[in-house]
Amino acid sequence: MIITPHILAGAAIGSRVHNYWEVAILALLSHYVLDLIPHCEYDEAVKLREAGKEKLIGHFLKIAIDFLSGIFIIILFSGNLYDYGYVLTGMFFGILPDILSYSRYVVSFKFLDYHYKFHKLLHFWKKKNIPDWIKISTQVAISLIAIWIIK
Ligand SMILES: [Zn+2]
Repeated sequence: MIITPHILAGAAIGSRVHNYWEVAILALLSHYVLDLIPHCEYDEAVKLREAGKEKLIGHFLKIAIDFLSGIFIIILFSGNLYDYGYVLTGMFFGILPDILSYSRYVVSFKFLDYHYKFHKLLHFWKKKNIPDWIKISTQVAISLIAIWIIK
């Protein structure tokens, strides 16, 4: 899943749950649960690295725009939130699994490899031929539900 729906889901949890441990655990779980739903994804960094530096830079630019869009949407719709601590915690733990998966390309820890395999396993639906419009719709729906919860 791209970053925006994960950030929004984490923020939605942080906007409703006011215990840092609960926010962290629920936001982390939300990531894995949402990854079970068919969605669009970025190409894997390793493929892009082989494809060349320009593709890799473009890839990280897309991720940066995606990340900033998530933050912008939260700022836009969270006008009446008084405690951003929980929201920021939710956002961070909502994207932590993706951060861990990417970390694998930078540092080598056995845990990161195990996590990567587990994370990839959740995308079992990738082997099925699911139309793009469904994969885009699921992300839009998740984002809208999250915004509705945040508001
Ligand atoms: Zn993921």
